[in-house]
Amino acid sequence: MKWINHQVVTGVIMYAATEDLLLTACGMAGAILPDKVEGSPRRGIMSWGWRSRHRGWSHWPLLYVAVIGLLLKWQGVSSLLELPAGGILSETGPMRIGIALCLGALLHIAEDAVCGKVPVLYPNRKWGLRLFKVGSVAEYLFALAVVLLCYLVKIMV
Ligand SMILES: [Zn+2]
Repeated sequence: MKWINHQVVTGVIMYAATEDLLLTACGMAGAILPDKVEGSPRRGIMSWGWRSRHRGWSHWPLLYVAVIGLLLKWQGVSSLLELPAGGILSETGPMRIGIALCLGALLHIAEDAVCGKVPVLYPNRKWGLRLFKVGSVAEYLFALAVVLLCYLVKIMV
């Protein structure tokens, strides 16, 4: 999925879920994080071997789940039963910024899984649906459908 669609889809989902502009902005930043850490396919020292690394460890969801776990631990949450009733983003501490970044990265990975393959349980074993080709009209229609779905859910709830 193109970065603009990652940011739009993730931003709409984050805002629909949190109604918080700061968390939405952090989620949108996290929405390009997995691709950004891979480097550019065209320039710089990170371009060498980019194709073989693409959607590798940087797209491994358990990495971001582990970081969320560490952030919650630093926030004082030692078990899932201690999570606040409003969810993991309801705390007011600075850790929620990092958690929102990781949630954006997790949404990025889910969005990539509908247009290609991404790791699931292991970084080197990939799974995906490939509903459309990256950059195609179908990708933009998919992004529009997610935006409309979030809007419908928001006005109905
Ligand atoms: Zn990606």
